[in-house]
Amino acid sequence: MTMGEIYVKTAALDAAFHMPTYARKEAMFVRGSGMRLYDDEGREYLDFVAAIGAVNLGHAHPAVADAVDAQMRKLVQVSNLYHVEHRDELAEVLVGLLGGDRRVFFANSGAEANEGAIKLARKWGRTVHGEGCAGIVTALNSFHGRTLATLAATGQPAKQEAFQPLPGGFTHVPLNDLRALEAAVTADTCAVMLEPIQGEGGVYPCTPGYLQDAERLCGERHVLLILDEVQTGFWRCGATAFAHQLPEYRADPDIVTCAKAMANGLPIGAVVARADIADVFQPGDHGSTFAGGPVVCAAALATIGALIGEDLGGNAITVGAHLKAGLNQLAADTAGIEEVRGTGLMLAAHLAEPRAAEFAAEALRQGLVVNAIGTHILRFLPPLVCGIAEVDTLLDFLHAILDTGPSC
Ligand code: PLP
Repeated sequence: MTMGEIYVKTAALDAAFHMPTYARKEAMFVRGSGMRLYDDEGREYLDFVAAIGAVNLGHAHPAVADAVDAQMRKLVQVSNLYHVEHRDELAEVLVGLLGGDRRVFFANSGAEANEGAIKLARKWGRTVHGEGCAGIVTALNSFHGRTLATLAATGQPAKQEAFQPLPGGFTHVPLNDLRALEAAVTADTCAVMLEPIQGEGGVYPCTPGYLQDAERLCGERHVLLILDEVQTGFWRCGATAFAHQLPEYRADPDIVTCAKAMANGLPIGAVVARADIADVFQPGDHGSTFAGGPVVCAAALATIGALIGEDLGGNAITVGAHLKAGLNQLAADTAGIEEVRGTGLMLAAHLAEPRAAEFAAEALRQGLVVNAIGTHILRFLPPLVCGIAEVDTLLDFLHAILDTGPSC
């Protein structure tokens, strides 16, 4: 069987046996290294998606592979009923990254981390303010996951419609509109939940003033501030481990959720809450069979160690600034880009015309993996090992396509 036939067979099996929840692109990746991916025919691609921001260290990082390999051969899983290696050390590292007196609950994904945060906030609301204090305010255009509660939290009615009735108690306000937030936080509200930079919604940042005002408002009304850092975490946005720590924000959330890049592509998530809030959880309140297992925790420790050791936050600042400047230059030189948004290596070009999917498909044909959001937005989330030369290849492609349109 030739390599091309493997793709054809796989695509046929996909169509025959998978639920059609994904419209997969016409590529099958079989190998990766750093920011390069290789398809079934050995063709090389530059990856500007990084598994939707889950592979910040780059593909097949040896430190993660070694950590996983060693732990797989030793002990894979015994559940959360017993102590294991790596779990507690990872919790200590996460608390160290966030600072303060905090406690961790491990989950298996971003949605699960947010579910945990929602449950914790509701139990805290009931404990501190009394029964009925269960409301959670989130932003319109946000994305917090696909489970029923996180879908209810997600401020995108189109994604919710088919799955009604969803869990109640969620209200949505326009991002960066303080008055709307002030009006939405009532005596029944236990938490406000925000992404510092909306990722799936199209890379829309909280303005610094808004995040600070939201924190102040939560403090004044004795409501929790939950920051969903599932996509923005682990140096994705450059200078700091989490976006809310960036100099322009310097926020101090009560609860932070993270996932995606924590174990460089292996499934893990975490809820990290101030200790006094976390203490409302008692044995039996929440749990997971798999979460916090020694293999994924070993992978996460190796990942965080390498992100720090290789100063990939520093690289994200430099290379991200280069990409942003290049996109802004394209916006100035052509009529094709209306706006450039984001920070570090979480960036988006908002196109003037609804051609995002068409451009992403052409990029793939030319060996560049980029992500289209909706009709107008190209999102760039490369591994943080991305270099200037790779960014220039992307900018050359965008320059050509914005000048000429796709070649077919
Ligand atoms: N929260 C944010 C901000 C996300 O970007 C995502 C996924 O894209 C999620 C939550 C859900 O994470 P997962 O797909 O791991 O459940």
